[in-house]
Amino acid sequence: MTEARFDLGAFNRRLEEVRVRIASARGDATSIRVVAVTKGFGPEAVEAALDAGLTEIGENYADDLVAKSLAVGDGSGAVWHFLGAVQRNKVGRLAPVVTWWQGVGRVEEGRAIAKRSPDAKVLVQVDVAGLPGRGGCQPDGVGELVAALRDEPLEVAGLMAVGPPGPPAGARSGFALVSSLADSLDLPVRSMGMSDDLEVALSEGSTMLRLGRALFGDRAPRRAGRPAARYRPGQES
Ligand SMILES: *Cc1c(COP(=O)(O)O)cnc(C)c1O
Repeated sequence: MTEARFDLGAFNRRLEEVRVRIASARGDATSIRVVAVTKGFGPEAVEAALDAGLTEIGENYADDLVAKSLAVGDGSGAVWHFLGAVQRNKVGRLAPVVTWWQGVGRVEEGRAIAKRSPDAKVLVQVDVAGLPGRGGCQPDGVGELVAALRDEPLEVAGLMAVGPPGPPAGARSGFALVSSLADSLDLPVRSMGMSDDLEVALSEGSTMLRLGRALFGDRAPRRAGRPAARYRPGQES
């Protein structure tokens, strides 16, 4: 994995800023769950989050999630969230480690999870950005997908969404739609809001934020399909 340098002092300052942002957006910050998204950083970022009381840790690359969970060890107290669509051939390796599967967009994915990890908690990803390749289920298919997943040995706990790129305000209508879908389907968890759009997400009913850069700073760029190489600033690809 390509890792950015982790700075503990900066992390602690950013965490304080995040708490202020959440409290000013929502008032009652204690009811909001924060998933610390450690992608792009090494296990020391996971350790720092755990030390700060953030026990929910998110990753969206299966190999990195497994590697970091091994690095911090079994007794660490981390509760792992897999973010995004999961390839079925990775489910077996992830199942012993992952508690929350955030981003089920197709019933086959849910079935693969149910087989390897019965009663796992899943969130259905709703595609509110309408961008190809982002994963997630179209809003008008969410009811049917939730019903199908409820027939599996799974705990369908809520919905998850990623806002569109661009100004945070552009996420508002999509997040509002996710909240109304969750209400109508009686799903308590709404995982929406990332570093740039957490205020919009909270004002539209988010119960769970997934925060990477707001906590850990900028990530090193990830170069798809390459073996893990150390990133050096200024290095040509
Ligand atoms: C990377 C990622 C995040 C965190 O993004 P930041 O903008 O760094 O807060 C949250 N959710 C998903 C699905 C991601 O891939």
